[in-house]
Amino acid sequence: MTSGWAGNILRVDLTEGKVTSEPLPESWQTQFLGGSGINDWILWNEVPPEVEPLSPENRLIFGVGPLAGTLIPLGSRTHVTTRSPLTGIFGDSNGGGFWSTMLKYAGYDHLIIQGKADKPVYLWITDDQVSIRDAAHLWGQDTYQTVGTLKEELGEEVAVAAIGPAGENQVLFANIMFDRYRAAAKTGAGCVMGSKNLKAIAVQGTNSVTMARPQEVRPLAEELRRRLDINQSRGIASFAKYGTTFLTTLYNELGCNSVNNYQDTVFQRIEDIHPDKFVDEFVQHNISCSVNCPVHCAHHWKIPQGPYKGEMGSKIEYIIMDSMGMHLGVSDLAAILHFQNLLNKQGMDATQTGTSIGLMMELWQRGIITAADTAGTKFEWGDVTGIEETINLIARREGVGQLLADGTLAAALKIGRKAEKYVCHSKGMTEVEDVRGFPGWALGYAISNRGADHLKAHGQIDKQQRHDVSEKLFGVPDVGNPTSVAYKGKSAKYHEEFEAIINSTGVCMMNALSLSIKFKPEEAVHMADYAPILSVVTGLEMSAEDVQQCAERIVCLEKAYNARLGLSRKDDTLHGRWMNEPCPSGMGKGMKAEDYLEQCLNEYYAERGFDPTTGLPTIKKLQDLGLDTVAQELVSRGVI
Ligand code: SF4
Repeated sequence: MTSGWAGNILRVDLTEGKVTSEPLPESWQTQFLGGSGINDWILWNEVPPEVEPLSPENRLIFGVGPLAGTLIPLGSRTHVTTRSPLTGIFGDSNGGGFWSTMLKYAGYDHLIIQGKADKPVYLWITDDQVSIRDAAHLWGQDTYQTVGTLKEELGEEVAVAAIGPAGENQVLFANIMFDRYRAAAKTGAGCVMGSKNLKAIAVQGTNSVTMARPQEVRPLAEELRRRLDINQSRGIASFAKYGTTFLTTLYNELGCNSVNNYQDTVFQRIEDIHPDKFVDEFVQHNISCSVNCPVHCAHHWKIPQGPYKGEMGSKIEYIIMDSMGMHLGVSDLAAILHFQNLLNKQGMDATQTGTSIGLMMELWQRGIITAADTAGTKFEWGDVTGIEETINLIARREGVGQLLADGTLAAALKIGRKAEKYVCHSKGMTEVEDVRGFPGWALGYAISNRGADHLKAHGQIDKQQRHDVSEKLFGVPDVGNPTSVAYKGKSAKYHEEFEAIINSTGVCMMNALSLSIKFKPEEAVHMADYAPILSVVTGLEMSAEDVQQCAERIVCLEKAYNARLGLSRKDDTLHGRWMNEPCPSGMGKGMKAEDYLEQCLNEYYAERGFDPTTGLPTIKKLQDLGLDTVAQELVSRGVI
């Protein structure tokens, strides 16, 4: 057993009511690291295409990486992997908070949930004592209430992952909330949890994580802490102050906010939701969401006046400012904060909720739908009362909520009348940032294994116009140009792999991307820099090449998973106005993805060494990565 990992997988079969602990194979550690990587390997082996997302046989897999819960001031995340009920394909999501550390301290790197309980239950893990308990008293509670109840019953120090009413009612984009405010938001993991009648997972660990060479870990950890010190770096200080809300104004300058369901990309009322307004009028104090992170970007906020006066919450991400704000024509910052609390409590992904409501607002605006289609609900831009009502209807699957609870694309297809024309998505998943004027970003959405997504294959180099970082990583400055096509395939490959390393080691993406972009090139922390960190923590001697190979293996395994489900190059694309309607404003004005996406894809597949016709890994590529059994299965199924 190496250090860094706890060395165990906890498996809970809810049908059988059985709990087992299995040793984490060392070969998995070296091949897939942990977190998302090992989760992917379990998903590949245990969830074949014949298993439907809401079948009891689907797996809900939680994974924390080898850096989680260590001295390294980045390790704080839990990765959740499943076959997505929203898209039907590979699904995963990542959440912050203390839950990952608690699971590791309880002695587990991964938790596999399978089967379905015959009544609502919750899981209580305290070291090697694991029990499946009755959750009748929790069922129907929102996530904040559930966390409160379990902390009252089990102790204030327990960490809780919970679903809300949306997960119970199997809204296809239900999320899992960690300790009230941290969401594993994407691809409907909360829906899978609800389908298994599992309301919550409470965990408390009393062990610690051993590190292979603690004397060498300390100076590395100190150096990272120094770089993350808000007194030493203006970039980090700014991130600590604003969190990701700083993107609201940056994206308005670039012209990639979505306004009124992508009808514009620059928000005219930006001052109303300006990050400074959030900080000056709402933020009470900053806190950290994990044990060792010195950044403290998780703000506690309080609404000072108006209809939501006195309401409090924690943190707000850019994605809420767009999906529940600009995308819906809302410029009332207090209302956006209120929506965030509401979504957290109901346990629903903000992006999918926002794009579903945005679709209805545009269809309403164009007279394509009327109250006869919506069970009486009106959809007017900026109508905060109507938005709140619709969120609650979706969570309960009532009225128009029944239509929207299966996701934006499904709603459009059910409505008909060419409504899908107003849905921007890839592989059935929507995103709010408007990418059509930014080829690197559009490519990242198109190739993302879980559908359109800003956290899978796209860094910040072009958004922040870091020609110097581009020069260091790729030998050319061009990636720093947001609107150019050149080298975006190369950049997409790199970022897809870098983000796989972030998610498989268990570090915080926000922190990791800040370290990679907010410094001079010689001080920035990139994928190769994880090799010495992993070596001293785990004791495995990892070179930069080893780390890159792990990342490539993880990415190719996810692609193989989707290939086994029938996906190929035809699915690496974008839909809706991202594809064929010129970008209306900003730096990318006039651009649309159909003019450049094929060129970007050709470069990307060439960089990956994939078959350019199918867009899939070749047999040789999989064998070179040690994925021989994966290659054999794809061959036996006639996929490659
Ligand atoms: S950077 Fe922010 S989100 Fe990430 S671990 Fe630190 S406090 Fe949490």
